[in-house]
This record gives sequence, C-alpha cells and structure tokens, in this order.
Amino acid sequence: MIKTTAKTKLFGLIGSPVSHSLSPKMHSFLAERVGIDAAYLTFDIKKENLESFLCGFGSTDALGFNVTVPYKIDVIKYLDEIEDDAKNMNSVNTVVNRNGQLYGYNTDGEGFCRYLHIKGCEIKDKNILVIGAGGAALGVCYKLAEYGANSITVTSRTKEKVNNILKMVKKYSNTDVYDEVDTTCEYDIIINATPLGMHPYEDKNPCTFMELISENTVCCDLVYNPAKTLFLKESQKKGAKIINGLGMLIMQGILAFELFNDVKLDHEKYYNELSKVFEEFKI
Ligand code: NAP
Repeated sequence: MIKTTAKTKLFGLIGSPVSHSLSPKMHSFLAERVGIDAAYLTFDIKKENLESFLCGFGSTDALGFNVTVPYKIDVIKYLDEIEDDAKNMNSVNTVVNRNGQLYGYNTDGEGFCRYLHIKGCEIKDKNILVIGAGGAALGVCYKLAEYGANSITVTSRTKEKVNNILKMVKKYSNTDVYDEVDTTCEYDIIINATPLGMHPYEDKNPCTFMELISENTVCCDLVYNPAKTLFLKESQKKGAKIINGLGMLIMQGILAFELFNDVKLDHEKYYNELSKVFEEFKI
C-alpha cells in the first residue's frame, strides 16, 4: 500500500494497455530512494478520452506522465513545448508539467544508448543492424546516429516504416543508412526491435542472418520478458555478447524520473539497484 500525504505529488503512465507495466515499481522505488514524496500510477486511457485527459492535466499540480503505446505520437499536439530530439523523432514518452505548461521529451533511445555505455559497448563508428521499424526502433536509431554510428541498416516487413526511420536518420546525422542487409558486412551491433521472442512468439527468432553473428558481435534485444529470447540464446551460442531490454527500460525510466523531479541521479548506481529489483528479467 502506497503511503500518501496531502503533499504527495502525482506522476504516472498513460497508454493502453498499461496493467503489465514495470514503471510504477521502478518510479516508486526511485522516489523512495531519493526521498521524494510522489506516487506513480497507471492510467489506461481510451483514445476518445485522450484529449480531455491532456487538456485538463496542466491545471493540476501533478508532476507529469510517461507515455506508452499507442499514444507516443498522439500526445504531441496537446503539448506546449517539445524538446528537439522528441520533435525530430515525432515521438514523446515523457511529459513534464511545469506550472501548467506541458513539456514533451523522449528518453527511450537515450536510455538504450546510455545502457550500452554502462555495458562498455561503444556506438561511435560502429555498423549497426536493427530488425524492426516501429516506435522503439525509431528512437533507438535516432540516438545511435547521434552517438556517431558509422552505419545503420534497418530491416522490417513494412518498407514504408523502414524508409521513414532512415529518412529521419539521414536528415539529422552523417550516419550511412541502408534498407537491406549486406551479407558481407560485419555488423558490430545487431538489435531486435520487434516483439518476436516475447509471448506469444517465444519460439521465433527475428534474425534470419545468424551467420553474420560471431564473438565480435553485440546482440541486443529490446524484449526483456523472457529475459533471454531465442535470438539472444542463439547469439550466445555463437559467442556474441548479449544484452536484453531491461537496461533500456531502466535507463529511460531514470532519465524520465530526473525530468519529472528536476534532479540529477547517479545513473550507474541506480541502474544497479533497479536491476536487482527486476532480478527476474536480468541475464
Ligand atoms: P511497434 O511500434 O509495434 O513495432 C514493432 C515492429 O516489429 C514493427 O516493425 C513491426 O512490423 C515488427 N513486427 C511486429 N510483429 C511482427 C511479426 N510477427 N513478424 C515480423 N515483424 C513484426 O512496437 P515497438 O514499440 O517498436 O516495440 C518493439 C519491441 O520493443 C516490443 O517487443 C517492445 O516490448 C520492445 N520495447 C522495449 C522497450 C524497453 O524499454 N526495453 C521499450 C519499447 C519497446 P510492422 O510495422 O510490419 O507491423
């Protein structure tokens, strides 16, 4: 049971569905550790109610809210200010309420890149293959390019989404972009940004280019439940370093928490603490 007082501030998550989210546990943990009197709740909002929720939100003294599927684009038109990265990506996962003005940010891609840094995996000058071209791939690719990736290849079944991501990367960086896998390229990092590997696709490996994987490859899955997807298991057998989506989840959450509460946290320290909280998803 959360203990609230008359001074407890509200923050939370909007989306649909939200009942599976780990964010309440993560933000409640951080609030308690940092000594902030705030409660993080989830709001499962129907599309037809999104406008009234957002229009009224600024009139409260709530801290803000995270945004998940399917509203990362839809919220944008209701915000007063949008940080450049989120604007360029056209995707917002964090909205901060500052004196009634709603500010939009996106911490997803930054969270992923910060986690790679914690794991000692460099992005600069690397050749990166991303499988999947949805919202998560978009944020991740934008930031990988900003962090100086040499090339980004995106492959997915819907070509239009692939092209949108590559167009964005090209517009805001000098990173080379490709929409087809080069079977002669030694990709340094391969990322699964599809749901293949998680329920109900546990027996599916999204990577049809396993021959490209060696002990020099870093294989990342944005999925963290199960902790080790088929893609990661098969990659590990080939000697690759493997990383799952828990680190991204935690790091985007820490970055959002900093924005909501106007604090700076020691990222590695709180990553380590939170990864113990979510031990079952660790690999
Ligand atoms: P999304 O916007 O729905 O995009 C999913 C991508 O996967 C699309 O390119 C989609 O292709 C493709 N895809 C979906 N089902 C497929 C199938 N059966 N076969 C082949 N391709 C398929 O989802 P998202 O928000 O980008 O999330 C992608 C994954 O990342 C999810 O598993 C999500 O849980 C995970 N994620 C993790 C974090 C984290 O913090 N760790 C954050 C965000 C997302 P089409 O466009 O053709 O449908």
